[in-house]
Amino acid sequence: MNMLIDPFNRHITYLRVSVTDHCNLRCLYCREEDHKIFTKRSEVLSFEEIERIVRIFSELGVKKVRLTGGEPLLRKGILYLTKLLGEIPGLQDIALSTNAHLLSSFAPALKKHGVNQVNVSLDSLDDRRFRDITRGGDLTTTVKGIDAAIESGMKPVKLNMVVMRGVNDDEIEAMVEFSIHRGIDIRFIETMPVGFAGIESVNHHYSEQEILDRIYKKYGDRLMNATRNKTDGPAKALFIRGTNTNLATISAVSNNFCNDCNRVRLTTKGDLILCLGQEDSVSLRDAVRSSMSDDEMKEIIINAINKKPEKHFFDSVIDNISHRQMVEIGG
Ligand code: SAM
Repeated sequence: MNMLIDPFNRHITYLRVSVTDHCNLRCLYCREEDHKIFTKRSEVLSFEEIERIVRIFSELGVKKVRLTGGEPLLRKGILYLTKLLGEIPGLQDIALSTNAHLLSSFAPALKKHGVNQVNVSLDSLDDRRFRDITRGGDLTTTVKGIDAAIESGMKPVKLNMVVMRGVNDDEIEAMVEFSIHRGIDIRFIETMPVGFAGIESVNHHYSEQEILDRIYKKYGDRLMNATRNKTDGPAKALFIRGTNTNLATISAVSNNFCNDCNRVRLTTKGDLILCLGQEDSVSLRDAVRSSMSDDEMKEIIINAINKKPEKHFFDSVIDNISHRQMVEIGG
């Protein structure tokens, strides 16, 4: 039974866990060029603390957990965490969001531990442009990581492309072809005004409607609504007939899709963020470091879910969220 039902009757089944604030890239829309991390080691949840929180969430009804960051594969000993999470009985899906720079060596072990889904950030198929957007990333390494994930049997493997006008919007169709060729999924994401870099990136806003117009123009007669899983969130999904590729748009700015929100986020420091576009959060770190029982922790989590805001306001309350950096929350 799901005990995590918020006041708007949304069932929370999905927890995203940021395991590190550190990243080996500095994507234009995510992080300022000179962004520094000041998090102290003592502030960061240990693997055992993360495992306990995730287990308690799963006992309350969460079915899916996603490891994100920063770059989650940079966290030393990450395979120990995935092993611990893989042993939690109630979890159906363990997913990973990654830039794939380290994925080719990790993929087989991750899959063995139960990490069954992966989202890879990929914003361009042009070497130089990729390097510019990520401020130093290497396209060939990322593609190797994607191929290793496919080979390991993770499914779905999804690409996340943040579409930016005048930066990479001319690559929408090429990215779909790349995905069809590999039999994987792709999601087109509108720039979101989270953190200073995110607010800047909204100057390159390319709307969901423009993305869909392009997709329908090229694939219109082959597009069908995709079947969705219970733990799928607000992304709108389409299936391209004759391929193994689903494509979706995530339009946090054009649309307020919060009715379908099924997720909360845990930061590296143990703050439970109830909405990406609102200030509300509850610290779970003190609780997990105290002598509190699991039942007492459950009460704190249920009370927090009762405070989940109805919706985000990316169009009007930008000042509210500007101090939060996407690299610290995990997207
Ligand atoms: N390092 C991992 C990666 O590259 O996927 C995980 C962390 S990254 C913050 C997760 C996702 O956040 C990225 O795929 C990117 O799409 C998204 N993201 C970051 N900043 C964003 C922004 N301003 N607007 C839209 N999406 C953003």
